Amino acid sequence: MPPSSNKCCLVARTRVPENLPEHIQSLVELADRFALETLQPLSAAVDAGTRTADDARRAAIAASKEAGIFRMTQPPEFGGTAAGPLAIVAVRETLASHNPRWLSDMFGPGPGILANSEEPIRSDYLLPTMDGEKLAGFGFTEARDAPHYTRAKREGETLVVNGQKSYVTRGTEVDFINVLADIEDEGRAFIIIDSNAPGVSKERVFGTIDGSEHAAFKFDNVRVPQTHMMGVPGEGMRKAMRQIGNTRLTMAAESAGLIRFVIQFVDAHIRRVEAKAGVNDTTRLRYGELRIQAYAARSTVYRAAHLADSGANVVNESIAAKAFASETLGRTVDTAIQIVGGGALMNNHPLATLYRQARSLRVAEGLTDVLNANIARGALDLNMGTL
Ligand SMILES: Cc1cc2nc3c(=O)[nH]c(=O)nc-3n(C[C@H](O)[C@H](O)[C@H](O)COP(=O)(O)OP(=O)(O)OC[C@H]3O[C@@H](n4cnc5c(N)ncnc54)[C@H](O)[C@@H]3O)c2cc1C
Repeated sequence: MPPSSNKCCLVARTRVPENLPEHIQSLVELADRFALETLQPLSAAVDAGTRTADDARRAAIAASKEAGIFRMTQPPEFGGTAAGPLAIVAVRETLASHNPRWLSDMFGPGPGILANSEEPIRSDYLLPTMDGEKLAGFGFTEARDAPHYTRAKREGETLVVNGQKSYVTRGTEVDFINVLADIEDEGRAFIIIDSNAPGVSKERVFGTIDGSEHAAFKFDNVRVPQTHMMGVPGEGMRKAMRQIGNTRLTMAAESAGLIRFVIQFVDAHIRRVEAKAGVNDTTRLRYGELRIQAYAARSTVYRAAHLADSGANVVNESIAAKAFASETLGRTVDTAIQIVGGGALMNNHPLATLYRQARSLRVAEGLTDVLNANIARGALDLNMGTL
């Protein structure tokens, strides 16, 4: 086989961003148009004060449904199109490359912890969540000073829950929380707890540097029917890890897209400065380094997505993609601020906002140190993970 055709076939098998299957390439073009023609004007209207942020966010979600983006993350049984991991990564990465408001809201919630639930949970929680009528919280992280892990005791047909969860995102808005708890003497399981149930209190509401809001919850003899336990005791941690694992690839895609946004921002800045006064060699070197990092991060994310699309177990590859892309985003924004200068540190400057967002992406769904330890464990103890 001549070397050139060999090269062609290797490229064709690798789902790098330049060589996506036709239907995914169409989705990428759709996402680009959606960001430019829908999200940017809505965002500009908020900045100009002609629309409230909430009204514009609702309009963006409605437009995402109309465009077919919202339902990509939902299974067909709930009216979704269940686009595969590669399509979801490609669309999310493309949208993120425009650094839009409301990125996460553009994708519909998946069944998550409630997957395969039966009646009455299906009608009371799963279906309203999929329709966007109810909002679920994720109760995983424990309060540091908690006297014991959140626990539940069986009493007849009831579970009695006591404990604390310290970091529930959108805690002031959630209708219910999927709480990971120790079922006494049996193992961990998720329990659905309504946020306004007797015995549930919000101990603290706090914002984080990325602009998101969270709440710490306390459960004091909260009584829920046993039907609110998802699956059997002992399965809870595995369910939690699966849920977190699925989210990692989307966070990797978001990081890769934001890296692209930063590169475009720096590129435009350097060209402007160059036209006026010329750019020094250090800036050029820094910019070159940024582009190499961006190339590596995007390649890593698309490779993991391609593997996921082929049905492979990508626990380790998703971890690698999330850790590498979020860390690269952190370094990229830091260098971009160095290149642009003090103006980039002003509040509301896109790079200042991204600096805070990047720091958060390096913690949420797994601190990089913890992910590194997991990768080592996967390789050394379980013989898992590709290079
Ligand atoms: C934006 C955002 C949203 C979040 N949303 C939610 C939510 O909705 N629900 C929820 O339950 N939680 C949520 N969290 C919490 C998040 O899951 C935890 O902050 C994260 O898992 C880290 O846990 P921790 O804060 O307890 O830190 P720890 O795990 O205690 O880590 C602290 C330090 O110990 C080191 N460390 C810990 N373990 C290891 C190890 N095995 N090897 C090496 N070093 C280690 C870390 O590097 C770090 O320096 C959110 C966090 C953020 C930032």
